[in-house]
Amino acid sequence: STHDALLNIQGLTVSYGGIQAVKGISLQVHTSELVCLIGSNGAGKTTTLKAIAGLLPFSANACTYKQTHHLGHMQAHQRLQAGISLVPEGRGVFARMSIEENLEMGAYCRKDNADILLDLEKIYDTFPRLKERRKQSAGTLSGGEQQMLAIGRALMGRPELLLLDEPSMGLAPLMVEKIYEVVEQVSKTGVTILLVEQNAHIALQIADRAYVMDSGSIELDGNAAELMSDPRVRQAYLGEE
Ligand code: ATP
Repeated sequence: STHDALLNIQGLTVSYGGIQAVKGISLQVHTSELVCLIGSNGAGKTTTLKAIAGLLPFSANACTYKQTHHLGHMQAHQRLQAGISLVPEGRGVFARMSIEENLEMGAYCRKDNADILLDLEKIYDTFPRLKERRKQSAGTLSGGEQQMLAIGRALMGRPELLLLDEPSMGLAPLMVEKIYEVVEQVSKTGVTILLVEQNAHIALQIADRAYVMDSGSIELDGNAAELMSDPRVRQAYLGEE
């Protein structure tokens, strides 16, 4: 139901100047779920994530996190402290800082130093590539490695709700597969995930549920496996005739 959702959004509207990019959408994400938001370029997916993370103002009938937190009343850093972490499109790693410094930045809200070190080791276990290169500057990493670093940095904040914006963007198919393996692994540890993707095929494969967005509105939603076999989804988003 909508009442026990970790994230409950009703009638979310986000505008750029006078133009509505998100037109009154409703969506829910339950604890430990992996939900994806798919749709073509310009549908309003990134705008939705940014509004949830606190990077864009919005209006809504309801936009609550853990039932009692009204996101509209919280600054971006308060949402982060409450466990909401965004891995932005284009990743935004600190290019001149080392990989390890980037990861440490992800824990800047935390004071449990011993646990921070344990989490760092866990992330290095998940991403051995990052461990090998821990002292190098992040700018020397490939696009896929930077994506891994951005996910690792978000995990260093021990998020409860991870917002992932197009982790497959610009990556070669093998790297996309690797990234998605990690997303699935993270999901299995119990982190709740809202994933935005243009690549509907890969997102629907790992998601529990999905929302299909077009021109600022949710057109369809449901179980990911069911949506994958829905003729409307197959035709519009999976490249079938
Ligand atoms: P993409 O995957 O390409 O990012 P998207 O579904 O995430 O697509 P948004 O980036 O949310 O779509 O964009 C939704 C609409 O809002 C588009 O029409 C876009 O042109 C417009 N838009 C996005 N950012 C801005 C901005 N900063 N100023 C004005 N309009 C914007």
